Amino acid sequence: MSLKLTLLGTGTSHGVPEIACQCLVCTSTNPRNKRLRTSAWLHDEKHSILIDASADFRQQALQHHMRRLDAILLTHAHHDHIGGLDDVRALNATSGRIPVYVLGSEAERIQRTFYYFFEPLAQRGGGIPDIDLIKVPAFHAFLVAGISVLPLLAFHGTLCILGYRFHNTAYLTDVKTLPDETVDQLKGVDHLVINALRYRQHSTHMNIDETLDMIKRIAPKKAYLIHTTHDLDYDAVNAELPEGVELAYDGLEIEVSGE
Ligand SMILES: [Zn+2]
Ligand SMILES: [Zn+2]
Ligand SMILES: [Zn+2]
Repeated sequence: MSLKLTLLGTGTSHGVPEIACQCLVCTSTNPRNKRLRTSAWLHDEKHSILIDASADFRQQALQHHMRRLDAILLTHAHHDHIGGLDDVRALNATSGRIPVYVLGSEAERIQRTFYYFFEPLAQRGGGIPDIDLIKVPAFHAFLVAGISVLPLLAFHGTLCILGYRFHNTAYLTDVKTLPDETVDQLKGVDHLVINALRYRQHSTHMNIDETLDMIKRIAPKKAYLIHTTHDLDYDAVNAELPEGVELAYDGLEIEVSGE
């Protein structure tokens, strides 16, 4: 099995369907209109690297028969991207302590959200995942299970977050704008996974037009749009996208190669 990036979830923070929504997409029977919260899994028989531990992580790990994890790469500390961190403890038995890579400013937020991970047993009284929170600066590549990973700076509104490039593929979510250095580091990438919330503007996420402009600047061979809302019906929107760009869906597999 060659290295693959499996998109475990491609929905925005609410997921699709949204709780209590009766719109056409939320009530659609098309499986591509069912989107768990955004995360991805880079894996082959020797490697298992999770990008974001989404709020739906437990369900995603069960569906994809995840047995072990070498590491987790976090983009940022919003709940839809870290809500599954507690469930990672089920994998400690096969994986030992799991390194979790994160931007320093976001590490502090994780320590606040999951305060009990950092308390002594007598105080917390229950199980916690055995993780090692490792702060990484943008633009300094590091090795994860022998794979070179380049963290890339991105802006989620005014919040600094990370995207990641590995081999010929890059993964960016919750981006509103990118610094020029990140765009430069993305040029020549074969596969670009990148967020596009909906058609309407949003203050901290790119909409479809903004994402298509960004894709033109980066010029990947193929781009996949993630973190989409219930405003986007898979079949209707996918048919409108330009050549080389498609809406991602849960379970989509991208072949990763190079170096
Ligand atoms: Zn998000
Ligand atoms: Zn809806
Ligand atoms: Zn976010």
